[in-house]
Amino acid sequence: MKRIAIITSGGDAPGMNAAIRSIVLSCHDQKIQCIGFYHGYNGLLNDEYRYLSADLVAPIIQHGGTILKSARCQEMHQDEGLKQVANTLTKHKVDALIVIGGDGSFRGMMALQTYWSGNLIGIPATIDNDLACTDTTIGFASAVNTATQAIDKIRDTANAFERVFIVEVMGRHSGHIAFNVGLATGAESILSFENCNINSLDQVKTDLVAKIQSQKQTNQNGFVIVLAENLWPNGPLGLKKDLQDADKIESAVCVLGYIQRGGSPSPEDRILATELGIEAVRAAQESTGVMIGKVAGQVTRHCIIRATEQNKPVDQALRSAYHQISIGS
Ligand code: ATP
Repeated sequence: MKRIAIITSGGDAPGMNAAIRSIVLSCHDQKIQCIGFYHGYNGLLNDEYRYLSADLVAPIIQHGGTILKSARCQEMHQDEGLKQVANTLTKHKVDALIVIGGDGSFRGMMALQTYWSGNLIGIPATIDNDLACTDTTIGFASAVNTATQAIDKIRDTANAFERVFIVEVMGRHSGHIAFNVGLATGAESILSFENCNINSLDQVKTDLVAKIQSQKQTNQNGFVIVLAENLWPNGPLGLKKDLQDADKIESAVCVLGYIQRGGSPSPEDRILATELGIEAVRAAQESTGVMIGKVAGQVTRHCIIRATEQNKPVDQALRSAYHQISIGS
């Protein structure tokens, strides 16, 4: 093994830099050359790269974002694009490609297998935590921390004004962030895919209105609703209108949005990224089509197909905890 290439692809996540650092330092230790391609698969398409030295990556562990930039790349969905990416890897005599990203990025890796025979290794990095075969993905813990701190601040105003707040959090189509943040902030309501049937949102609304009204009679606190993105028709503004129409309930809306993706990675994410990066370099010398994960405290290797085909549900224990301590539910 002489040369390993790295890309960061899909949504950026805090800890991607820590993963790059870990791979490059491991390679340095094993006298393997490291090339970083920019802007996800686009860098491989357009031959945009730089050699990554230990000196360059040593001080980046605490930085959010990614020094290699990230992007989506439509051309990866076509044979021509895949062939061009394979040509670039062959031209640079790359033995293995490590992709740091989410499930889409790993599907790109699988598609590339048809045109390139080098080893392909995935490191799960997405704030959504929606990948199977790993307890958490790089970036998730940091996003939960960021959203928790933000909602703690919103809570002060919610309580001071005895107000209903609808706070939208990210997660694409999964509620890992919503449930973790909802529990961590003591939200009065968590609305996510796992506990709301999208075919009976009228019932969800009726229950929510009853819960808000019941709380009004028992205490003078604010009422915080943590809402998963992509759940409610027309998003948090749609829910605001529905509460107003249903029972003249006034509410304030706050979309946390991209602040959840940024910022310095948490210690958990830095450590996870470091462990997965070291194992990725080992795996790159022995196998292909593998995602590195961490399950029950152990760093593990999994077939990339399994990791992308399965959905990782929100822990049942978290859902039960919410129902157990949620007042009025
Ligand atoms: P996140 O969920 O955090 O945004 P992701 O890796 O899932 O991360 P996507 O936008 O789904 O993000 O995918 C990133 C890139 O991977 C796409 O822009 C595309 O280049 C490539 N990709 C995704 N799906 C496929 C596929 N089926 N075939 C080939 N390439 C794909």
